[in-house]
Amino acid sequence: MASILERVHSASHRAIVHVISATPRAFCPPYHRVTMFGLFKRFRRNALLKEPLPSSWQQALGDALPFLETLNTGERLGLESHLKILMKQKHWVGAGGFELHDDIRLTIAIQGARMARALPLDAFERLSEFVVYGEDFTRPDDAFGGPIHGEAHPFGTVVLSWPACQEGLAYPCSGFNPILHELAHVLDVSSGYFDGTPLLHRGEDYEPWARVFQHYFDALRQNPEQAFLDLYGAEDEAEFFAVATEAFFELPDGLLDEAPDLYEELRRFYRLKPHIIPCSCTSHEPDEDDPDAEPDEVGRPLFGPGDPLDFL
Ligand SMILES: [Zn+2]
Repeated sequence: MASILERVHSASHRAIVHVISATPRAFCPPYHRVTMFGLFKRFRRNALLKEPLPSSWQQALGDALPFLETLNTGERLGLESHLKILMKQKHWVGAGGFELHDDIRLTIAIQGARMARALPLDAFERLSEFVVYGEDFTRPDDAFGGPIHGEAHPFGTVVLSWPACQEGLAYPCSGFNPILHELAHVLDVSSGYFDGTPLLHRGEDYEPWARVFQHYFDALRQNPEQAFLDLYGAEDEAEFFAVATEAFFELPDGLLDEAPDLYEELRRFYRLKPHIIPCSCTSHEPDEDDPDAEPDEVGRPLFGPGDPLDFL
């Protein structure tokens, strides 16, 4: 497999094409063509963004994100806009008979809005639908050999296990958040590939990104005993970016201490400083009354391995 540094050249090329193709030309990617469908879509989105945020959504935002009041005006607006888009312009499907209530959709969408609040409003353009199971699920071909907790498909579907989402949200300082993980894959594939390099903001961002990510990806594979990121990130570059994203949002101080340059690349990409959500639950810490007791297992669940082009 080509290294991140080798692939960055094609990534930079893609970025240049992306910018150039903003002028409509025959070979423009579809999302840059000014089509009737695109105009209607833009019209609907603009109308949606002008709608007031329902009070129940405001309440849910405050409950989920204790740092809400500290956000600047731009981040707050971005948060609310992404929330509207995720709630109203993506399909939501309950799978396996699971009844997908509004509060579940809202809980998942808030995590997406949290991570994308400083990104452009088309950050999740590749995402078309969420499919949510009421339990861990198994792939039809059982390629993983058991239940899994989430996956992202290149054609725009994110599949989540709601119990796994709940577990991640119950431990907001664990670095385990299946929603952030799968949506990081969606951002990643915005470049056209699941390769751990999303569409960066500027052409000159690619080289430091590739250098830094390659360094820490290699270190994780070669020295797993010194890992400060979840070892699942050693699966491939795409998983490394997804796992690093979870750490960036849930364990930013630890990431900054251990890998300040990796933190900086993520900060530059997400265009924000993450806020810690206090973890009030201590059940994942060793029991002081019974130090020999095993702490509850929290952390890397079963995200699927294998071909990152069709299964993450
Ligand atoms: Zn993954």
